[in-house]
Amino acid sequence: MENILKLANVEVVYDQIILVLKGLSLTAKKGKITALLGANGAGKTTTLKAISGLLLTENGEVTEGKILFHNQEIQNFSPEKIVRLGIFQVMEGRRVFEELTVEENLRCGSYTNPKNFQKNLEKVYTYFPRLKERRKQWAGYLSGGEQQMLAIGRALMANPKLLLLDEPSLGLAPLLVEEIFAIITKINQEQQVSVLLVEQNARAALNIADFAYIMENGRIVMEGKAQELLNNPDVREFYLGMG
Ligand code: ATP
Repeated sequence: MENILKLANVEVVYDQIILVLKGLSLTAKKGKITALLGANGAGKTTTLKAISGLLLTENGEVTEGKILFHNQEIQNFSPEKIVRLGIFQVMEGRRVFEELTVEENLRCGSYTNPKNFQKNLEKVYTYFPRLKERRKQWAGYLSGGEQQMLAIGRALMANPKLLLLDEPSLGLAPLLVEEIFAIITKINQEQQVSVLLVEQNARAALNIADFAYIMENGRIVMEGKAQELLNNPDVREFYLGMG
């Protein structure tokens, strides 16, 4: 199966001094869901920002190694260039524009391909009917779960090839996590969107992922098929709380 993304020995430094990624290597297969798990501060968000280019906006830099998207080197490309290649990051904490309506937020997601706006809008409303019901409402008035849906929907408006999702389960009740993860799976299967999913909710992520990596302190410490990791005694003890 073809790799859509490959990180090879990536080092990331913030402010020219703080080494956060210390030789990280991983691959994401085309059309699959790959999970990246690990405790707080392991460097998961930094990994996504290194891929999306957002690192550059925080005075961070890839100082060693390579990031390949469809075999093209993209490390330290600007965020605009990365979006145009088809990589879209949904940031942690549902960053929606609170003073814009739901539909205006979705329009912002289609700035790279405005002519597909109407078609993509229908697509997003099919996955998230609740957003259609609330399309004229200010995004700031949406519930936490609806804001997460809007953040994912806005990313879909850009016709991404690779979606980088940062903790979509954060702060959501278990039933809602299930609902959102089921929609992520559906989008992955029906839209041929590859997904790199960062999560602290290891169980929810492993349930929908094909392959997973576990990182600690800026490096990958374990990897395997998601189903195998779910049954691995160490993973059960340390990451699933089932010791
Ligand atoms: P969390 O689940 O808490 O978001 P994480 O695994 O996503 O954790 P990161 O957010 O990537 O981890 O942070 C990894 C390390 O990098 C932390 O020690 C953090 O303090 C540091 N770090 C993150 N962003 C910056 C920044 N802009 N400048 C300096 N250091 C940073």
